[in-house]
Amino acid sequence: MSKQTQSFPKILKRGIYGRCPNCGDGALFKSYLKQVEACAQCGEKFGHIRADDAPAWLTILLAGHVVAPFLLGVVPNLDWPEWVILLVIMSYAFLLSLAILPSAKGFFISVIWRSGAIGSEK
Ligand SMILES: [Zn+2]
Repeated sequence: MSKQTQSFPKILKRGIYGRCPNCGDGALFKSYLKQVEACAQCGEKFGHIRADDAPAWLTILLAGHVVAPFLLGVVPNLDWPEWVILLVIMSYAFLLSLAILPSAKGFFISVIWRSGAIGSEK
């Protein structure tokens, strides 16, 4: 099926879950953030697509909107030592960012692939 005939939400969902945006069967990443050169199932090429800083931007945006209310709503009412609060919040933000980043990259690779952009490596 051509990428022009597939539904855009389905393509985005596949990318967010780390699957090939074209077929949904093959893996989009060969390691934590390194995308495959081509899908092992359908052969669609992804190696030339560069998401650059967009996944980091989206990760900061999403993680910030989760951590900030916690900082403003819960932390002022805690009676914990400051170093414990700092350790908990930094660990929480760090782990949350690690969890979001691959999905954010898959999202942007899917958008770039669907748009037909040639990527910055060609
Ligand atoms: Zn595929």
